[in-house]
Parts: sequence; structure tokens; C-alpha cells
Amino acid sequence: NRQIHLVSRPQGLPEENNFKLFETHMPKPEEGQVLVQCLYLSVDPAMRGMMRDIKSYVPPYQLNEVLTGEVIGRVSESKHSNFAPGDFVVGRLGWEDYSVCNGENLRKIDPNPAPITTHLGTLGVPGLTAYFGLLDIGKPQPDETVVVSGAAGAVGMVVGQIAKLKGCRVVGIAGSDKKTQYLINELGFDTAINYKTTENVKSTLKEACPNGVDVYFDNVGGDITDSVIKLINQEARIVLCGQIALYNLEKRDVGPRLFPVILTKRAMIKGFIIHDYEARYQEAITQLSEWIGQGKILYNENIVNGLESAPNAFKGLFKGENLGKQLVKIAD
Ligand code: NDP
Repeated sequence: NRQIHLVSRPQGLPEENNFKLFETHMPKPEEGQVLVQCLYLSVDPAMRGMMRDIKSYVPPYQLNEVLTGEVIGRVSESKHSNFAPGDFVVGRLGWEDYSVCNGENLRKIDPNPAPITTHLGTLGVPGLTAYFGLLDIGKPQPDETVVVSGAAGAVGMVVGQIAKLKGCRVVGIAGSDKKTQYLINELGFDTAINYKTTENVKSTLKEACPNGVDVYFDNVGGDITDSVIKLINQEARIVLCGQIALYNLEKRDVGPRLFPVILTKRAMIKGFIIHDYEARYQEAITQLSEWIGQGKILYNENIVNGLESAPNAFKGLFKGENLGKQLVKIAD
């Protein structure tokens, strides 16, 4: 059984040498446990925060232990009454070929009608995050303008498409022309801005949002967010989902003070953690599955092969190598 351990804490951008592949014994399930073969694992930006030795809403990773993350697997042996060999499951498991767990936080998934990989993307944490963040906090209304940063990633793509379904003008911000073209031509965004090549993001955004910004779904923070906030309308809603531009900083970033505009525009900023919505996950999965089935929500996955590729795939998130959900395939 191969495992990936975190062997040192990243300083700045994660490096290959922060991770190491180990060979260990094959785990055996005891009474009440399940043995799961890992098929796909998800690399997530939030894992970067857990690599720091600080207390947050989840405990940090321990050094020299197997990393954990969202995994899709197949039950290969079960001593648990809820699971049978052959079941497809999703849950928080190790970055390893086989994991043993007690079934807590493990959900069975339906391999039909959408491919199992969607349970790490549009029907998984990213899709649920987009759904609840946008609809519950952003509350987009027809003809309002919704701006989403990190728009060509797993969460952002779903946010923009739901906002279109709600009748909004949707503006995406992403890091390459390939991504902005995909958002406009394939996903129906009204327009998209490449923040890496656009000289003046703020004035380009202003042109893209002639009626101002009613909802800002923030996946990135930093300079991009500073530019968007200056354009908010009265009663704007700012959904604070992620701050990836800040995750690798060793020193806290000090930005412009934007509070006066929040005050005068009576705007709301609300952060959230998707796990707060656990009791309502099924509602979102049902709706998102329906939209996928009707072709109203499209998705893209970036899949690399082999457990050994996982650290590099994780690092790639911070360089924008992924269009849509980044996954690592471990086995068939
Ligand atoms: P993505 O699939 O969006 O991958 C990350 C993307 O972020 C990259 O592709 C890259 O695209 C962009 N990016 C990387 N570095 C920067 C930077 N410095 N400035 C601007 N953009 C950058 O990841 P997810 O969809 O999984 O997650 C998106 C965000 O949502 C993250 O911040 C994550 O932490 C957060 N999140 C929050 C949850 C919650 O419960 N609140 C749950 C799940 C995710 P590009 O080419 O455009 O730069």
C-alpha cells in the first residue's frame, strides 16, 4: 500500500520535497470497518491552510503522516452493515491506494447517471460550495450583475452557470485566455477577464459591469478583490468563499482599506464553510444532478494519473494549471 506523507511544511509555494511517497503494509478492516480502494483523489486549495501548524476550523496535518483529502473509492472489503464490496463511496480518506475507515463521513454514491468523478467536482464539495454560497448568501436576482473570481476553477465554473440560470449578467475573472474563452464560448458567461494579461483590471471590470456589481463571489482575495469591491452597488452581497491569492503568503498582506465603500453601499460580506450546510447537501445534489442531466450545467475535469502525481497536481492549483476540477486518478 503506497501513501503520500507531508514531510515538511511548505514555505510559500508548496514544493515536491514537502511530500514523500512511502510503501506500507496493506491495512485490514476490523469489525465495523470498511476497506476502500482509492480510485480518484481531489487536490483542494484549502489543503494548503492545513499544511500550516496553526489551529483553524480543521486541525493541521501532522508531519510524517498520510495526507487526507476528498477521495472516491470502491469498497473492496466490508465489516460494516451499511457498505458492501463494490459500492462506490466518497469521503475524507488518505492519499493512499487503500484506506480503512469506520464509515463515518463516508457516503455511497450512485455511479449513474453522471460519472463518479463528478462527486469530487460539480456534485461534490466544489459544486455544493458554489450552490449554497451563491444562492444562500449571494441571493442573485434576475438582471443583477454577478462577478466571480477564480471563475474557471471547480467552484467558479458552477457559480457562473447557476448565476446565468438565475437570469444574471455574469462576469468571470480567470488566469488565461484559454480559460476566459471557455467561460464565454462554452459556459455562456457574458464576459470574462484574464487578470494576468489585462493591464488595468479595474477599468476593464468597470466596462464589463456597466450597471455595477450586485453579487461578488470571491474565490481569490488580494488585488482582484480590491478591484471588484470598488464597483459594488447598494446592498451588494459579497460571498467570501476562498482567498487563494493569500494562501502561500508567509506575511499577512495589507491591502487598501475598503470598509468605507462597504459602509456607504450598505453591502454585506459573509464568509462560510461548506460543512455548515451538511444537512442540506442532498437538496443541492438533486438540483445540480438535474441541471447536469438537462445539459444546463457543464463541467470540465483535469485528470492526471498516479498517486505519485498528486503533490504536483496540488502545486498546479496555485499556478492555475487546471481548467475545472483537478483530480488524480489512482486506479480503474
Ligand atoms: P480551483 O479549481 O478554482 O483551483 C484554484 C484556481 O485558483 C487555479 O486554477 C487558479 O486559476 C486560481 N489561482 C491560483 N492562484 C491564484 C492567485 N494568486 N490569484 C488569483 N487566482 C489564483 O479551486 P476550487 O474551485 O477547489 O476552490 C476555489 C476557492 O474556493 C479556493 O479559494 C478554495 O479555498 C475555496 N473553497 C472554499 C470552500 C468553503 O467551504 N468556503 C470549499 C471549497 C473551496 P487562474 O488560472 O484563474 O489563476
